[in-house]
Amino acid sequence: MKAKSLYLSALVAVAMMTLSSAQAARQQQQQQQQQQQQQDQQQQIATTAYRASVLHFTGDPAATQQSYEYYEDGVLLVGADGKVKSIGPAGTVLSANQNVQVIDLRGRLIVPGFIDSHVHYPQTEMIGSYGEQLLEWLNTYTFPTEKQFASKDYARKIARVFVNELIKNGTTTALVMATVHPESVDALFEEAALRNMRIISGKVMMDRNAPDYLLDTPATSYTDSKALIQRWHKRGRALYAVTPRFAPTSSPEQLTLAGKLLQEYPDVYMHTHISENKGEIAWVQELFPASTGYLDVYNSFGLSRKRSVYAHGVHLRDDELASLAKSGSAIAFCPTSNLFLGSGLFDLQAAEKHGVKVGMGTDVGAGTSFSALRTMGEAYKVIQLHKAFTDNPAEKKPLSSLKAFYLSTLGAARALDIDDKVGSFKAGNEADFVVLNPNATELMKLRSARASTIEDKLFVLQTLGDERTVERTYVMGRRQ
Ligand SMILES: [Zn+2]
Repeated sequence: MKAKSLYLSALVAVAMMTLSSAQAARQQQQQQQQQQQQQDQQQQIATTAYRASVLHFTGDPAATQQSYEYYEDGVLLVGADGKVKSIGPAGTVLSANQNVQVIDLRGRLIVPGFIDSHVHYPQTEMIGSYGEQLLEWLNTYTFPTEKQFASKDYARKIARVFVNELIKNGTTTALVMATVHPESVDALFEEAALRNMRIISGKVMMDRNAPDYLLDTPATSYTDSKALIQRWHKRGRALYAVTPRFAPTSSPEQLTLAGKLLQEYPDVYMHTHISENKGEIAWVQELFPASTGYLDVYNSFGLSRKRSVYAHGVHLRDDELASLAKSGSAIAFCPTSNLFLGSGLFDLQAAEKHGVKVGMGTDVGAGTSFSALRTMGEAYKVIQLHKAFTDNPAEKKPLSSLKAFYLSTLGAARALDIDDKVGSFKAGNEADFVVLNPNATELMKLRSARASTIEDKLFVLQTLGDERTVERTYVMGRRQ
């Protein structure tokens, strides 16, 4: 009996233990589920839905019918990691994501942050300098201004103003020329890092035909550039560009070393100027008498390839455009600068015909505005002016507003080979975006009321917009 009761007690104890361990397991499971739910909720709350009209490009409007996605009442969904989750109609996206934070910006237009394909930050303070064309303008205004950037403190002061101007104008990425001084590059990258901005820049290489105080040597330009590449390229969102200013200010020895840097670091950029001004082109021919043209000089030093960006290209020949397309190089179209310095009218249609990648640039300080919107407006006029210089104006097509916005977003991202990161709202892209107010001024409100199509709405922004139109700028999902 005793043994039996002991046996039963043991059985009960085992059963109870089994029960309690099952309970514990169940409790643990419940706790895990609760934790998971809390985590999911937190994650969803950290996801933010920006509700407004939303537009981005998926292709070049000049090349394809289906070049963009537009949601009149749309949502841009941004994750806690600062990356795009999705875009779509507000009803669909919000019902599928019920616990997200919603920022209601209806009445506004959200587009990807603007990308400036060519700009000089040290020239911020000399914007709007009167009366000269390229070569005189460099000597009279640019070189004395750039001298000051030997001081890191001075460079930092101007870099701060520059970055603020970009943000105020909705520009979240730029390909930027610094000065010959390595300190100028450090100052810019440091300021951009404070805002986590994707900036591409580099030290100017310049060893002749400029004042002594701005000259480096082939050897120092090589070692300084190399040290900067090692310090900055791919650090955070920074990317480095090997930056000979333009062919006239670099000796063949220096251009050879620029080519060597590109071979040693195949994924850095090459950033320079080309065929901006007729006097400049003649000078290049004198300095490099064996070359068959301006682009041939750069080609002969191995400087043209994917991630090579040439500012201007106003006077490029057909064979040069074909060569740029073949090498995968890109052109930065800088309309306000080309008008301001009386350089000429960039032929976008010819570049398109040859399949050259093009991005829009401000080229401040020869350019007269940091605003991508104003730059698009001037681009329209440059393209229109071609009609005045041809016997067959009908052959010259106007610049569509879709193409203009493409050139400042996805087109520029493609030109800079960063379209896998920014320039559109593709899922997983970095959430750099801008909130535009089409009714920012009384005049815009009046004109916008007449705009019924997306093309016309964009054209109002392109023609009348400026920094007042830019209501908010976000970098990696963070409001600036
Ligand atoms: Zn420039």
